Amino acid sequence: MLSIQNIDKSFDALPVIRNLSFEVKDGEFVAIIGPSGSGKSTLFQLIGGVSTIDKGAILLNGTDIQRTRGMIGYMPQQPCLLPWRTIVENVTIVEELHGKPNVKVAKEWLNKVGLAAFEHAYPNELSGGMQQRVSFIRAIVSNKPILCLDEPFSALDEFTRLEMQAWLLSLWEKDRKSILFVTHSIEEALYLADRIIVLTKRPATIKKEIIVPFARPRQEEIRHSATFTALKQQLFTYLKEEKGEANVD
Ligand code: ADP
Ligand code: MG
Repeated sequence: MLSIQNIDKSFDALPVIRNLSFEVKDGEFVAIIGPSGSGKSTLFQLIGGVSTIDKGAILLNGTDIQRTRGMIGYMPQQPCLLPWRTIVENVTIVEELHGKPNVKVAKEWLNKVGLAAFEHAYPNELSGGMQQRVSFIRAIVSNKPILCLDEPFSALDEFTRLEMQAWLLSLWEKDRKSILFVTHSIEEALYLADRIIVLTKRPATIKKEIIVPFARPRQEEIRHSATFTALKQQLFTYLKEEKGEANVD
């Protein structure tokens, strides 16, 4: 279980996160939505150990993971591929840092997302959406108890995005790892998550939390239900309330 406990984070004089607490239980799929510039990516950098918190604690199964990289499967908002490594070498890099990379598994995953032909290509030969898929696979093959995905499908066209959502769900329904997922799409959050956390504008703290009532495995049709529409409206209102002067992005 991931436990975020009363964390604060500022960049110099700019408070970005204030007294934020929440938990992600084993096997739970949690989505985070909030205004842009509210501190969502900053939160993930803190969980990923890339950046340090000013106050509070971040625990994974009871262990403090602050300043510790490699504890979670982390897909940053920007794909961050190394330009001098091939695609398959980019996928296996996390494992390389911690032991022996499994090239066979990496290739199987590339095949599943339609990138088999690009194994030996370099990142600059791929579109933004393709690079995002590579970054996604890299987080998955790192085989960690929790995946933190920062707007993983935002650079994809609508059709590929729907395909990838369905694919992520089928994958998750099979192995039930915990997922913490940032998205700016209310519909995506409702379709995928068990629970949605709405953040306030900067400095981010929790505004509201809703439990998503749809059964698993999720059916495509729920998108057209009255409950879906009502929840979408409710979440939209929360976000609208947070669109204030502090949000310059
Ligand atoms: P979100 O992902 O919710 O859109 P971010 O977490 O990327 O928002 O950014 C939150 C705020 O923190 C923004 O105002 C951004 O400019 C600021 N910020 C993010 N990273 C840094 C940094 N390394 N140094 C200074 N300010 C930063
Ligand atoms: Mg962001």
